[in-house]
Amino acid sequence: MPADHHSVQPAKISPPAMGEPYLLTPGPLTTAASVKEMMLRDWGSWDGDFRAMTAQMRRELLSMIGDHEQAYDCVPIQGSGSFVVEAMLGSLLPRNSRTLVLVNGAYGQRIVKTLAYIGREAVVIDKGDYLPPRGAEVAAVLKQDPAITHVVAVHCETSSGILNPIKEISDATYAAGRKLLIDSMSAFGAIPLDVNEIRYEALVSSANKCIEGVPGFGFVIARKGELEAARGNAHSLSLDVHDQWAHMEKTGQWRFTPPTHVVAAFGEALRLHRLEGGVEGRGARYKENCESVVEGMRSLGFETLLRDRWLSPIIVTFFCPQDPKFEFGAFYDLMKQKGFIIYPGKLTVVESFRIGCIGQMDRAVMRNVVEAAGQSLKEMGVDSAAPPQSALAEREKLAA
Ligand SMILES: *Cc1c(COP(=O)(O)O)cnc(C)c1O
Repeated sequence: MPADHHSVQPAKISPPAMGEPYLLTPGPLTTAASVKEMMLRDWGSWDGDFRAMTAQMRRELLSMIGDHEQAYDCVPIQGSGSFVVEAMLGSLLPRNSRTLVLVNGAYGQRIVKTLAYIGREAVVIDKGDYLPPRGAEVAAVLKQDPAITHVVAVHCETSSGILNPIKEISDATYAAGRKLLIDSMSAFGAIPLDVNEIRYEALVSSANKCIEGVPGFGFVIARKGELEAARGNAHSLSLDVHDQWAHMEKTGQWRFTPPTHVVAAFGEALRLHRLEGGVEGRGARYKENCESVVEGMRSLGFETLLRDRWLSPIIVTFFCPQDPKFEFGAFYDLMKQKGFIIYPGKLTVVESFRIGCIGQMDRAVMRNVVEAAGQSLKEMGVDSAAPPQSALAEREKLAA
């Protein structure tokens, strides 16, 4: 950690209350006790104190993208992350736009589905379960289809855990004179998206991912020019980012009932994020978590779906062991008994499960996760955690 960050403290993990399991899931996740405590007080949504809290939150989120020219603004939107993705797409994509969507998992697919719902034209590059969309492929499609106006990419595709090459995608997009929108839901706050390094018009994320708040709202960070131009685009009143932005700028208030307790909790989550060293500090802890769990699980014989190059510090997919005594449901229950909620896999080709690295967890917790996994295998009578040969063959495709 840089020496000039005097206020940075080694993250003190706040474990879940007695008897509560750790959530090894990519949000909702295990939050700090002080974040939960902030929800014990009621707030008037029109009151000056709450308005100040909203303003402070918007400023702090903006401070994470290195926007020294103040060209961007932050607009919170009520709902889960998907509401905010839909709000960004419906508001920032003009009705006559044509969008290239880069798909390599469930969240990319959801973007395609959303565009169909809201009547925006889409062209798709679909890489399947886990191969990354590459800059050269984006460049080729943009060259061949001059009517495409925008590109939408998923930063970390949470369904496999792959960290997509967003810089490469951005470079290809702007070299072709198009605009990039990013679903950075599960990456923002832990993986840098500095506007001085990576060009984009807008990103979205939500309260319950890497900032470690509780669920209830998300936010769009967009170039002010895009927010201005978005007037009249939206297909939906409640998801109109321009309208929410204009109202918030004028009154300091959310248009409709805000999730007051969630915003209060998020303010505390942001404070902890800052104390930990911001994006850099948070990302460093998650990276340690990831390395610790990957190393430990590999020592038990498990294999990761992704090669190291594409692993994200957010969530890791492991193949299920081939041993016929292994059954995911039983493994899940045994892990839960030991205090850990894991996450089923989302691959279509091979059996898998996922372990999230985000939330109030550190290396020591991840070591306990690995120990619990080893113990659970023993209790199931599984001798080897090695995956089937077909799974490894699948992974070879990633070598390219
Ligand atoms: C979590 C997530 C979303 C939003 O999901 P919700 O369940 O609606 O909160 C969108 N994109 C990605 C990449 C995510 O990880």
